[in-house]
Amino acid sequence: MTQRRMWILSLFAALAALAFFQAATDAQPATVKQIAPGVWFREGEIDTLGHCNNAIIEMKDYLVIVDANFPSGARLTLQAAKKVSNKPVKYVFDTHHHGDHAYGNPVWTEAGATTLAYKGVAEELKRYEPKRWQAEAKVRKDVADLKLAAPEPPKQTFDKSPFILKDDTREVRFYFFGWAHTRGDGFVYLPKEKVLCSGDAAVNGPFNYTADANVANWPKVIAAAQKLEVAHVLPGHGGPGGKEVLDGQARFMTELHSAVQAAVRQGKKLDDIVKKQGDKLVSTSIQLSAGVKNWVGDGLPDQVRDTYDEITQHKPHGDIPH
Ligand SMILES: [Zn+2]
Repeated sequence: MTQRRMWILSLFAALAALAFFQAATDAQPATVKQIAPGVWFREGEIDTLGHCNNAIIEMKDYLVIVDANFPSGARLTLQAAKKVSNKPVKYVFDTHHHGDHAYGNPVWTEAGATTLAYKGVAEELKRYEPKRWQAEAKVRKDVADLKLAAPEPPKQTFDKSPFILKDDTREVRFYFFGWAHTRGDGFVYLPKEKVLCSGDAAVNGPFNYTADANVANWPKVIAAAQKLEVAHVLPGHGGPGGKEVLDGQARFMTELHSAVQAAVRQGKKLDDIVKKQGDKLVSTSIQLSAGVKNWVGDGLPDQVRDTYDEITQHKPHGDIPH
């Protein structure tokens, strides 16, 4: 074999490997499902990529995307949006400040969209960042590759709820109902289609994260959302569902709070109700009813600790310096 031929062959091998790698990373791990005419739900790949879910909403002349996702999730969602509609993305709504919902903001800005959020999202970013961004950049290539020192806050915020977008096609309402998962929790509601995007204030599965939360207030926030006429709930994580997602989420938080409160009243210490291995919490003696088992998972010991702190320190967990 001539050197030239060897070189060409190895070039082909490299290209084939690259194509394979590209296919593996570009593959749409998420499914895109139509919920109503012009409304799609994209279930993010949480286990392997840490992505949140997205909604794609088609207006008369443009698209609204719910959640910016991580940068890599933003790119996949942009591709998914191009497949279902040729209209440009005009608004991207951050349901809250967490990385898997807001760190993709620069990707959307670059794509010509305006990132939008309730003002509480910008305030939470000021409170917790850039520490978390910098930690995430050490473990996530998509965050590091943006070469930014801090997350990009939403370009447009509103403080009067609901903020409304309306045209001949449909109406989209952006609500803030109070502090549940974070101080900035935004909901997106389509009154005609009875679709509610709940961010992480209501998830469908064991995805609750309570570190920035107000567990005691959480069910009240869901109760406000339950006053809307809802046929479809598109959660921040887990599959789409109906009103039962809101019911179960509220019941989970209510049961969690009352079970931990009962333990506190019995004089139990944190170490009596959660077991540690190193600095990880691995189990808890707190048990919740079978009715909320969809929401119970490996995160329960952490949720119990956060709730215990909230009750014993008399402030929402998100207000406790940690
Ligand atoms: Zn979150």
